[in-house]
Amino acid sequence: MSTTFVVDPPPAPSLPVVGDTRRFPVNRIYCVGRNYADHAREMGHDPDREPPFFFMKPANSIVTDGKDMQYPNLSKDVHHEIEMVVAIGKGGANIPSGKALEHVYGYGVGLDMTRRDLQGEAKKMGRPWDTGKAFDQSAPCAAITPASQCGHLDQGRIALLVNGQVRQEGNLNQLIWNIPDTIAYLSTLFTLEPGDLIMSGTPAGVGPVQKGDILEGTVEGLTPLKVKII
Ligand code: MN
Repeated sequence: MSTTFVVDPPPAPSLPVVGDTRRFPVNRIYCVGRNYADHAREMGHDPDREPPFFFMKPANSIVTDGKDMQYPNLSKDVHHEIEMVVAIGKGGANIPSGKALEHVYGYGVGLDMTRRDLQGEAKKMGRPWDTGKAFDQSAPCAAITPASQCGHLDQGRIALLVNGQVRQEGNLNQLIWNIPDTIAYLSTLFTLEPGDLIMSGTPAGVGPVQKGDILEGTVEGLTPLKVKII
């Protein structure tokens, strides 16, 4: 017997998949903090290889299929952070680094949009980052490319253009914690599940967006992301 609910359940978040009419179901969104040295420095931190740290966004913060992103309330300083997104296809806990890529379904391009002013206040007060990071529509994402098509990505240009101008630029080979090590460590903290996404960190050049801006994110070998701020 199928489950019935006392109120209509919200739509299940999902992402398009390159070359497939079926969709990738989004479960949880984990984000890695300060995973490129140049970005750690621009935020005033020493990029020594300390254990990575994580925060989360809700699955329903995904913006996809060419939809616009609404500039959020209660912030005057909303920043872009371009990131490569890792889509987990097979769950597990305590995954060894050498086996981590077997858990990856594919890769995509995403934005870890940030209310920098609210994040800054939270940091100062020692409070959680949710209001700065986990707000509505804070996770624009392009279609996922299956690893069976693009291979596993450990190098390649990652960049963000705002209104045609390059704002962020880096290379996946500059990640402090590479994808296998990130998955291995994350899976000691949380049992990973199919549908989990990992935003792998942003290169230097983060900065504010305005209403009307067109953001174009690229990772070499993946379907680009294009989103308008309205
Ligand atoms: Mn980020």
